[in-house]
Amino acid sequence: MEKKDSIKLNKAKPQNFIKNIIEKDLSMNKNDERVHTRFPPEPNGYLHIGHAKSICLNFGLASEYKGLCNLRFDDTNPTKEEVEYIESIKLDIRWLGFNWGDRLFYASDYFDKLYEYANQLIKSKKAYVCSLSTGEIKEYRGTLTQPGRNSPYRSRSVKENLGLFKRMRAGEFKEGEHVLRAKIDMESPNLNMRDPVIYRIIHESHHRTGNKWCIYPMYDFAHCLEDSIERITHSICTLEFEDHRPLYDWFLEQLNLFHPQQIEFARLNLSYTVLSKRKLLELVKYGYVTGWDDPRMPTIAGFRRRGYTPESIHDFSERIGVAKRDSLVDVALLEHCVREDLNKRAMRVMAVLRPLRLIIDNYPEHKVEEIEAVNNPEDISMGTRKIPFSRVLYIEQEDFRENPPKKYFRLFPGQEVRLKHAYYIKCEKVIKDEKTGEVKELHCTYDPESRGGGTADGRKVRGTLHWVSAAHSVKAEVNLYDRLFIKENPVDCDKNSDFKEYINHNSVETLKSCMVEPGLANAVPGSRFQFLRHGYFCVDSSKGKLVFNRTVQLRDTWAKIEKSIKDRKGS
Ligand code: ATP
Ligand code: MG
Repeated sequence: MEKKDSIKLNKAKPQNFIKNIIEKDLSMNKNDERVHTRFPPEPNGYLHIGHAKSICLNFGLASEYKGLCNLRFDDTNPTKEEVEYIESIKLDIRWLGFNWGDRLFYASDYFDKLYEYANQLIKSKKAYVCSLSTGEIKEYRGTLTQPGRNSPYRSRSVKENLGLFKRMRAGEFKEGEHVLRAKIDMESPNLNMRDPVIYRIIHESHHRTGNKWCIYPMYDFAHCLEDSIERITHSICTLEFEDHRPLYDWFLEQLNLFHPQQIEFARLNLSYTVLSKRKLLELVKYGYVTGWDDPRMPTIAGFRRRGYTPESIHDFSERIGVAKRDSLVDVALLEHCVREDLNKRAMRVMAVLRPLRLIIDNYPEHKVEEIEAVNNPEDISMGTRKIPFSRVLYIEQEDFRENPPKKYFRLFPGQEVRLKHAYYIKCEKVIKDEKTGEVKELHCTYDPESRGGGTADGRKVRGTLHWVSAAHSVKAEVNLYDRLFIKENPVDCDKNSDFKEYINHNSVETLKSCMVEPGLANAVPGSRFQFLRHGYFCVDSSKGKLVFNRTVQLRDTWAKIEKSIKDRKGS
């Protein structure tokens, strides 16, 4: 009774078809009113934003229905898996704010049990050792339009099968010599049901079980049994497993075990991004990026280094929801989520990315003023800070034009602008390099009466520039990122081409001589700021120098899209 009340209280979060299933199960008293999910990564790469969606979903449902969520490493393939990946996965899940408590499991924990189940299937004539080669198995399997043919080894006796399977395990055979197959139906319209392989020989040592095994279970066989052993109630996976569900159910029925329900949802696809560990590994391996945590990578580690917050990823995953059909989500939505979150929490600071020297001729030479600046106009509780102002400043090169186009409200000869938090200045003289004609420095005058924005005569200026004091500012390196791919859908835009053809070769620009406010000198890695007019930035953890990675620009294309949708609906 109590549980149902608590479910009602949770109705505030958007409903979806998975929640409908769970609530129906709860109302029918199924699984003793338990909700128990799991997140089952294969440790063969770092987690990406698609996994984040699955993590938020599985851990989120567990917490919403006061249930549990396990973390289970699906380590059934010893050839691709590495300990480095296991550690990174744990770190990423914790960083997202989820906790598996004492429920960290490995598929390899169950190898003995799975072997027992396989023997049980053999004994009930539901599995047999097949000695066809891999190629032959494929050939016998048939196609979508043609039924398969029975393997000549299908009628081996229970005794012979038990003996051969035991010898497979003992290491008496070479890889590919024999496999264990389920005996189902070679004419099934569902290819997954045509006597799928459930165990194969791999002479490879495993990161946890060492050399104990040389036969390893296949995913389809292992996964449902792992779920059942852990008494998972709702086994949530992506759509490509829909056709495997009959097999999932078949194993559990044959073995008469606790039966979790598999539920499929559409995997996340993101524009201008690839989300497949195999492809991401290629980017790492061939040096297109600097590593799995390169801030351009769609991995959780990459987003973290880029400056994304866990909250922004939760928000994103909530907004995209869960669907039954595949779609491509606009990466602008993800950027919108992090922008919204950082807008609330990031301290505003001034940083000049491409410095141009500016001298205020009528400002006293050794004078330094401490100017008070608001840290975040969105959150006054974040307080204020003091920024030094002096005679020599840096402004942004692009904030000055010798020959301004129309409607250019920034600085040009004879023009007056406001320096953020400080005074009005007017450009009096331009010093150029005699040979190159490049602008070297600007000489200006300031209006001492204009501190903080107003003037005695009430005159207005249109441009406001950010700046730093030359003598006080700190040098920093800044990485500006662009999308890693030039095509909206680099995987599917042309089936015959390699996704790597669509890599954007200008996806990062590094500026090495940026000047930032002195207060940033000791900013700790991972801390995030808004550089006025430039976007949000996060401190990278590089040794000996101050490096900022741009998380996202201030311009919000998603907000525009949302607005135009609203306007269209309104009209
Ligand atoms: P990839 O294709 O990127 O290698 P995978 O599905 O093989 O992904 P697993 O480690 O097996 O990776 O996945 C762990 C869990 O994450 C699975 O339950 C899987 O369904 C889910 N998952 C993987 N990719 C996505 C995605 N793009 N969107 C949503 N969930 C995903
Ligand atoms: Mg997988």
